[in-house]
Amino acid sequence: MVPGDGAVTLRLSLPPVEESDIAEAVAVLRSGWLTQGGRVAAFERDFAALVGTPHAIAVSSGTAALHLALIAGGVGPGERVAVSAYSWPATANAVVLSGAEPVFVDIEPRTFGMDPGRLEETLTAAGDIRTVLPVHAFGCSAEIREIGEVAERHGAQVVEDAACAIGAVRDGRPIGSWGRLGCFSFHPRKIVTTGEGGMVTTSEPELDRRLRALRNHGQDPAHSSPDFIEPGFNYRLTEFQAALGAGQLGRLGATLAARRELARRYDDLFRGSSLEPLGGGTAGAHVYQSYIVLLPAAAAAERAAILAALRERGIESTIGTYHIPLTTYYRRRFKFIEGGFPVTDDLSSRAIALPLYSGLSPESQARVAHELLALV
Ligand SMILES: *Cc1c(COP(=O)(O)O)cnc(C)c1O
Repeated sequence: MVPGDGAVTLRLSLPPVEESDIAEAVAVLRSGWLTQGGRVAAFERDFAALVGTPHAIAVSSGTAALHLALIAGGVGPGERVAVSAYSWPATANAVVLSGAEPVFVDIEPRTFGMDPGRLEETLTAAGDIRTVLPVHAFGCSAEIREIGEVAERHGAQVVEDAACAIGAVRDGRPIGSWGRLGCFSFHPRKIVTTGEGGMVTTSEPELDRRLRALRNHGQDPAHSSPDFIEPGFNYRLTEFQAALGAGQLGRLGATLAARRELARRYDDLFRGSSLEPLGGGTAGAHVYQSYIVLLPAAAAAERAAILAALRERGIESTIGTYHIPLTTYYRRRFKFIEGGFPVTDDLSSRAIALPLYSGLSPESQARVAHELLALV
């Protein structure tokens, strides 16, 4: 039996960790070599092959990936970065923690990603923005081709927040390879997990070198005897974490097929109802890190009550993600009010994430749909 898929509570998500992954991690723990060895290097090679970039640099979290990617991309004090308004706060926090200032851009309703038209307006009005940080929300790839074209016209680089989007492909090109830098997370709610962990992808050897130095106290990876070229962090991934993730990466194709099948079943259950699923657009573009439905506008005010009622019925669900400009820090700092980001205002008030994990049965999915539809 899958833990969580019993009569008691349907969990929102379950990590796709198998006994073989645990055995690999335990073997590393027994080996006595816990960090900076061959497992991380192998994990990086497999990840680079998946994303199709020459370089992949493992780090200790998705937030660390964003932080280092921004610093390596030259983002710092005095810079401004265009950021998607609808995301986990880490996206904007990484900009602030690198010393730069976020400029939020509203999303569009097809992918919940940064709206290329709004980005064009923002870059035209600002003039000084040299970095664009779009988010592939819930594993659904943003309109990254259009975003990239707008950024290029304005001389800005793109750093992708692909934390949720491992394995996603837009127009035949893997997410994480469109931008100058791509950032991934291996948090347990993501599709591949190492407990905590992350990865940065890039095609540029100089960025690879800088990222490797920054994650390891500034030590130059190109120098045989230890030399330190700048103050760096300790953002390393451990060997046992890499061992835990390696098998999951190898099974990614099957995992994504299973997630898409689960999503298709939910789509069928909600077809013709007042609930509107977040679609994927083209095939391959959505890996369903989360399965999101939108409540009808009239039910938005009831969302908290609906989530509580589902919990009472043994179904774990949550809001999609966050309207970052309206969280306390950003609201106070920039004096944001509701109305400033109309699409984010609307969608962030109506989104619900439903249980989705390998092994979730058709019966359980039918129960989720039945209970939710009875509440709206
Ligand atoms: C999870 C997530 C992050 C942060 O990743 P961590 O590994 O938890 O630090 C950043 N951005 C997005 C969009 C995420 O979903």
